[in-house]
Parts: sequence; structure tokens; C-alpha cells
Amino acid sequence: MSTAVVVGSGPNGLAAAISLAANGVQVTVVEAADHIGGGTRSSEAILPGLLHDHCSAIHPMAVGSQFMRHFDLQRYGLSWRWPEIDCVHPLDDGSAGVLHRSVEQTAAGLGRDGARWGLAFGYPASEFDTLSEDIMGPLLRLPHHPLKLARFGAPTVLPASTFARVFRTEQGRALFGGVAAHAFRPLHYPMTSAIGMGIIAAGHRHGWPVAAGGSQAIADAMVTLLTDLGGKVETGVRVQSASQLPPADVTMFDLAPSAVAGILGDRLPRRVSRAFTRFRRGPGAFKVDFAVEGGVPWTNPDAHRAGTVHVAGTFSELAATERDVHAGRMPERPFVLVGQQYLADPQRSVGTTHPVWSYAHVPNGYAGDATEAITAQIERFAPGFRDRIVGHAVRSTTQMATYNANYVGGDIMTGAKDIRQLTFGPRITLSPYTIGVAGMYICSAATPPGPGAHGMCGANAANLALAHLARG
Ligand SMILES: Cc1cc2nc3c(=O)[nH]c(=O)nc-3n(C[C@H](O)[C@H](O)[C@H](O)COP(=O)(O)OP(=O)(O)OC[C@H]3O[C@@H](n4cnc5c(N)ncnc54)[C@H](O)[C@@H]3O)c2cc1C
Repeated sequence: MSTAVVVGSGPNGLAAAISLAANGVQVTVVEAADHIGGGTRSSEAILPGLLHDHCSAIHPMAVGSQFMRHFDLQRYGLSWRWPEIDCVHPLDDGSAGVLHRSVEQTAAGLGRDGARWGLAFGYPASEFDTLSEDIMGPLLRLPHHPLKLARFGAPTVLPASTFARVFRTEQGRALFGGVAAHAFRPLHYPMTSAIGMGIIAAGHRHGWPVAAGGSQAIADAMVTLLTDLGGKVETGVRVQSASQLPPADVTMFDLAPSAVAGILGDRLPRRVSRAFTRFRRGPGAFKVDFAVEGGVPWTNPDAHRAGTVHVAGTFSELAATERDVHAGRMPERPFVLVGQQYLADPQRSVGTTHPVWSYAHVPNGYAGDATEAITAQIERFAPGFRDRIVGHAVRSTTQMATYNANYVGGDIMTGAKDIRQLTFGPRITLSPYTIGVAGMYICSAATPPGPGAHGMCGANAANLALAHLARG
């Protein structure tokens, strides 16, 4: 029987472990933290019973991923819940761009931009499941559906600020911009439309659900399945050098490239080691969880029903804050992503006190405290918010990296998603999961298709390892 060791129990490490175990490999996952799950953990951080997601919260890319569909995690306890409205992007005048699961409903709410929204996203949404066979893996390979991919892919090379000009209204532009800004890149850079277009298309196809019982339920379901397949997980084991790795036919690193270089040292070929140590970080995230009595008093009525609220103001304001963050300057009014998972999953609340998840885009390694900037941004679109806060918990960029070593300087994307790293992953190669050492692979969100709790980096790396094992 072949054996495998997976270092790191994030969604990609667990997806790799499951994919290997399902094919008869004896798998052990080793995890530095005391709890499994990496970016899919949850806990009662402020008040007993009030459940907060530590990292991933909303899952348009995960719910329909090939990995999730193939392994049907619902059978192992995962249950998705959809909010009434996927995402709202409020503006100062009380209006908002409102994203529904249905393209038609979204278009109907966007007035003059309705037909344009339909033209931009109707096709990729209807073809998303087919397209994802090409976009949820390495971009540089022979596509399964070249014509469909070309039709989807052409606008994704544009800067988000260019693509946003398709829309005439502030609401349409801001709605698109807020999703595009998930790329953590200045919006005038080429290819910054790509991540936004992928998330919008996925959301129109599958919605923006949360996991019932918190995102931890994703990791728990994966571990239940892995255990069923004969795999095991050891927590509290931080791998720091190659000598700690047990002998195995396959070693899978669910880690940032710099960590792989640190662990393997001279065992890595020089060119790989150089690429991994030069791998560029993205900006940071500064996270604040709030306990809010009665929920956030948004001015915009739709925001009261939305799982996600993008707090930034107009597209041009958002573009300016993303430019600042990229340049290492903390903006006065940062882009704040607010999660109201309890609307879809009410068990997370305690009576009328609700858990509100938020993080702001800040410069990598930002040493200041962004709590006031985040609170003020939310207050701007929800006057009276401050008075409803009954508790809060903060995770700064430094604490983010201590919590999970993959998030260097608070970089929750596991690497900047610039053109090179988005296209190739950690180094320029057609085989982004290989690291130049036989039997060893990298499978974290640094590899294609990138961040999210979809498990596809892990599944793709495992499939490659299985093909190598089969060839002997
Ligand atoms: C604040 C925040 C919000 C997010 N929001 C969303 C969202 O809404 N939706 C979404 O889909 N995604 C979201 N993400 C991103 C998502 O969580 C990540 O992209 C995803 O978790 C990456 O998975 P991974 O398996 O590559 O690595 P990770 O989840 O980072 O897991 C890596 C694991 O490796 C372990 N590890 C690290 N070093 C070692 C070592 N030396 N030895 C042993 N173990 C080690 C870590 O402890 C960790 O458990 C968010 C992330 C954060 C932080």
C-alpha cells in the first residue's frame, strides 16, 4: 500500500488527503495547530454560544467545486445555508448594488445597468460548471472547453477599473468592484477582473452560502470522510525541518512556498528554492468579530437581508483604498467585508445578539490597530452601529500569521495574485504542484486555482501524485 503525509489540515490539505485515501493510499495529516481546519475554523470568541468564523465565511467557490460535488460532504455532516440576498454594496445616499443568486433578479435591481449585468454574467453563470473544469486548475494547459473558456476569459484579462466602465450607474460599478477587490490588487492592474468575474459567475450559479454550524463544519465533514477512508490526523505537530517528515511515497505541503523552502532547505533544487523564497506576498487582512445587539442597523434595507456587505463606498473610492494598501499605506477608510452568516444560520446567535464577522484590507504586516477604522466604515452606512456593539475580538496581521503560518504578514490569499502568480502559482512552470523533489508536492492556496475553501488546489495536486504513483 502506498503511503502519504500531508502537512497542514486546511481545506486543500484535507482535500488532498481525501483524494489520496479514496484511491487506496494510507494517509496521515499533520497539523501545527491544536484544531484542524486551517482557514475553515470557527469558535465562540466573544460570548458563550455566539459562533464566529475565524477565516472563511461565505462559499460561492466551494459549494459547487468539483471536489465538493464528487465527495458529497453533505453525507458527512456538511449542510449549506443560503442567505436571502448574497451581497449588498451600500452607497452614502442609502442606495446599493444588490447581488442576488439569480442574474435576472440582480439585473432587475440595477436599473440602467440591468441589461449590461445580464450580458456580462448571464453566459458565464449558465456555463459555470463546465467552465470550472478549466478555471479551477492550472490556467496554462490544454483547455477542456476552449471556445467557452475564450468567451469567458477575454474580459478577465482587463483591469477591473476598465471592465467597470461597462456599467453606467454607481451601484453597478460598485457592486462589480467590491467583488473584484477580493483579489487584493490595485483595480487598475491587468487581470484584476478575473477573480471578481469567477466569484460572480460561481455565485449566480450556486449562491453565496455559509456552512451550518460555522465553517468549522467543512473541516469536520472532511475529517469524518477521511477517517472513514482509513486516514488519520495528528494535531499539535509543527513541521519545521525535513528530518521531522516520516518516510512516505507522497508528501504534500499545504503550506506557503516560503515554508516549504524553509522545511526542505538544500533538498529543494536551487531554482525552486529561489522562486519559493521570492514568492510575493499580498496585502494583509485585519479582522474584527463583533457581538451586536439586534444586528447592524444598515440604512439600506436590503443590507439587512444580505449574507455579505461590501463596505467601501463608490468604485473610485474603493480603487483608491486598494491602491493605498498595495503601496503600503493604511487608508483612512479601508475596504471592509462584513459577514452576517447568522441570517442564513440563526443558530449562531444568542437571542437577539448576533455575531458579525468583518475584516479590512490593510498593508501587509500593518502594525497598527484598524478596529476604529473598521467600526467607523460600518457606522458610515449603519448609523447607530457603535451603540449596539456588546463585545468584539480582534485578529491583527501579526496575530493572523501566528494563528496560521500560511498567512504571512496577514496575507490571507497565501500570496499576491499578480499576473505571474495567478497564472503560474508559486513558480514559472507548467506543473505548479511539483517542487522538483520526487514524490513531494505543494497543494496550498498559493497554487492554482488559488484561495477559497473549495479544496481544488489539494484535489489537483493529489490527482497529479496519483498519476505519478500509477506510473511507478
Ligand atoms: C479572514 C479570512 C477570511 C476569509 N474568507 C473566505 C471566505 O469567505 N470564503 C472562502 O472561500 N475563503 C475565505 N478565506 C480564504 C480561505 O480560508 C483560504 O484560502 C483557505 O483556507 C486556504 O486553504 P489551504 O488549505 O490552502 O490553507 P490553510 O487553510 O491556510 O491551512 C494551512 C494549514 O497548515 C497548517 N500549518 C502551517 N504551517 C505548518 C507547519 N509548519 N506544520 C504543520 N502544519 C502547518 C496551518 O495551521 C493550517 O491549519 C478567508 C481567509 C481568511 C483568513
